[in-house]
Amino acid sequence: MNPENVGVVRGERPFEVEAVRADFPSLHQEVHPGRPLIYFDSAATSLKPDSVVQALDAYMAVYPSNVHRGLHVLSERATEAFEDAREAVASFLGVEDSARVIFTRGTTESINAVAMSWARSALQPGDAILLSELEHHSNLVPWQMVAKEKGLELRFAEITDDARLEMDAIEAALTDRVRLIAVTAMSNVTGTLPPLADIMDLARRRGIRVLIDAAQGLPHGDLDIRRLDPDFVAFSGHKILGPTGVGVLYAKRELLEAMPPFMTGGSMVVRVTRDSAEWNDLPWKFEAGTPPIGEAIALAAALRYLAAFPADQVAAHERSLLEHAHEVLGRIPGLRIVGPTDPAKKGPIASFTMEEAHPHDLAQLLDRHGVAIRAGHHCTMPLHTRLGIPASARASFSLYNTTDEIDRLGEALESIRAMFR
Ligand code: PLP
Repeated sequence: MNPENVGVVRGERPFEVEAVRADFPSLHQEVHPGRPLIYFDSAATSLKPDSVVQALDAYMAVYPSNVHRGLHVLSERATEAFEDAREAVASFLGVEDSARVIFTRGTTESINAVAMSWARSALQPGDAILLSELEHHSNLVPWQMVAKEKGLELRFAEITDDARLEMDAIEAALTDRVRLIAVTAMSNVTGTLPPLADIMDLARRRGIRVLIDAAQGLPHGDLDIRRLDPDFVAFSGHKILGPTGVGVLYAKRELLEAMPPFMTGGSMVVRVTRDSAEWNDLPWKFEAGTPPIGEAIALAAALRYLAAFPADQVAAHERSLLEHAHEVLGRIPGLRIVGPTDPAKKGPIASFTMEEAHPHDLAQLLDRHGVAIRAGHHCTMPLHTRLGIPASARASFSLYNTTDEIDRLGEALESIRAMFR
């Protein structure tokens, strides 16, 4: 272990948005002649700072070797950097036991792992899993699969018309058979922030396991995994300034120890005969095959980058972006923001519909102004059905965005609206 590479140092760099922007090479381009990029699609995938690009590049260019196997210098270096990355993830989450950090390909794989391994082995027919109406397909379809297979019930905590999730709704959906609450830390459409601390209290009192889908929540500051102490946490590298192809499942040690592997093959075994195999220790028992080595190393660089800013300063910046977005978008006639109206009570995402234009048209026309947003159902079809809309346009913000960019979004939407009238 190289101590210099391991720890995540918190809050050593004052947050200053122009200095942050200078760190993101992809921000400095024109996407159409005379149209510099305005990137409001960070909820789909975030941009990557230089340090992440360099970490991945160094792995590719200098020590592109496999881990845990070789006895040569490059392999040792790759192994050390990969295992240091695991320590960095644990340090970022504020937890000690890095053997509980499993590298996966992303949130989707992490949740599938819990469904295929834990739910399949620990739940009995008639048991129930409680979800919310906010969930991304990644935190729904894996449960549907295992529910069909095992005869489980899926229950849903209902949201309010403005997409808030209240404890009353969770309690109303609870039965004695609920064994797991699987809930997002932040809706990828409405920015809704479920009451995680209260959910954890309730679950602890009732002996219910909790999975937090942290894909959107973790990149935005105040998700305190150490304090919440859920049973399972899933997140993706690419939404938190890191590369695609890597994510994390973080779980309670006793659960991981009892869970069978969800994927088998090389590296996750210590002894194999023709007829049987003995599993490796944690975390490798869950990392069959060659892991995403460079990606994990670069994810660690992303977490170090993000942690270097005081979390409250990043959160304050993102809150001011969202407040400004609500103000600017709220002035446009016919535009309706989907979900909570109070920007203080949600994450930095503004999804909306506009009377004059379909979200897809909006996204395409905004692109001509250099503004990248996303349109569609954002992998939350049941949520859109509940909200009574087929699709929405989504502007999502990150630490590198500015209020000026939001003004340009507002101007572009006004000119698009004028076209349709
Ligand atoms: N959960 C939420 C809330 C998301 O927003 C996403 C991605 O948009 C996912 C899960 C799935 O993440 P990935 O595609 O990186 O596995």
